Amino acid sequence: MDAQQRRLATLLGHFETRKQPSASRVPASANYSGASAVSSFDAEELRELLEHDNHEMRAALKRLMLDDSFVPRYDMELREERDLALERLKKICLAGFASVRDFRTNPLRVFAAHEVAAFCDPSMATKMTVQFNLFGGTVLKLGTAKHHDMLLKPMDTLEQVGCFGLTELGYGNNAVEMATTAHYDPQTQEFVVHTPNTLASKYWITNSAVHAHWCVVFAQLYTKGVNHGVHGLLVRIRNDDMTVCPGVRIEDMGHKMGCNGVDNGKLWFDHVRVPRAALLDAWSQ
Ligand SMILES: Cc1cc2nc3c(=O)[nH]c(=O)nc-3n(C[C@H](O)[C@H](O)[C@H](O)COP(=O)(O)OP(=O)(O)OC[C@H]3O[C@@H](n4cnc5c(N)ncnc54)[C@H](O)[C@@H]3O)c2cc1C
Repeated sequence: MDAQQRRLATLLGHFETRKQPSASRVPASANYSGASAVSSFDAEELRELLEHDNHEMRAALKRLMLDDSFVPRYDMELREERDLALERLKKICLAGFASVRDFRTNPLRVFAAHEVAAFCDPSMATKMTVQFNLFGGTVLKLGTAKHHDMLLKPMDTLEQVGCFGLTELGYGNNAVEMATTAHYDPQTQEFVVHTPNTLASKYWITNSAVHAHWCVVFAQLYTKGVNHGVHGLLVRIRNDDMTVCPGVRIEDMGHKMGCNGVDNGKLWFDHVRVPRAALLDAWSQ
């Protein structure tokens, strides 16, 4: 058989629907004649194995997602698709399936919620991971009691939505060299958060284009002219009525190839003053 014939035989093989498994891999007892092959293992057992943990919670979340609002929808306006992702996430949150505090008590529950949510709507799962993992997890881990008291509860209910401002246009994987600054002003006990140039704009920031009230802004932190490296600060970017806060500029990044329920944005800060307490100071008081 020459190369072309071999190629043709391979291609024909792709169209063959009743391909027999090779004899060497087939146990003598196997029956491939139809339904009995399907029932030759316990599907429930396989599901238990694949799902690994938090089985009851996963089953309950799947039941919740039988609700009409989780039925797949297509050809939506961008704004509608994003709002739908948030609305679905809110249903999951209000039913108690996700909590930032799970990172302390049962971290696998957070990941189980992500896995199940992504079956239905990957945009919703992305918004979930930014709210609970990137934003919430950072506030939990890098923040202290004052930040937790203010935000952990409304985070869980999505009353306060957050985003995570690490990446800059000029600094992705090399985020440690980022150019956003936070200068401490001892007179007013405030930090001045500033985007000094275009490369320092926060870029791709999930949840920022439409839904976020808060951003954990990572910046080079300066006191008395000394650079103390990258630190995270809690910066309010939208008021409760969703108007953008003074000094903050947000640009919607618009349509993407997929996951258009995720609102990605670019952010600029023009000498935005935040109180000293905005510094996430678990390790840097
Ligand atoms: C849909 C989406 C949502 C996002 N959401 C957020 C968010 O919420 N918050 C946030 O802060 N960021 C967010 N990001 C940004 C994301 O974290 C960055 O895209 C990522 O960190 C990579 O940075 P970059 O795009 O600048 O790529 P670059 O760092 O420029 O990398 C480009 C390519 O070069 C390679 N590369 C870079 N450096 C090296 C090296 N030293 N050695 C070898 N290879 C290298 C990379 O692997 C990659 O293939 C989001 C991005 C997307 C696409």
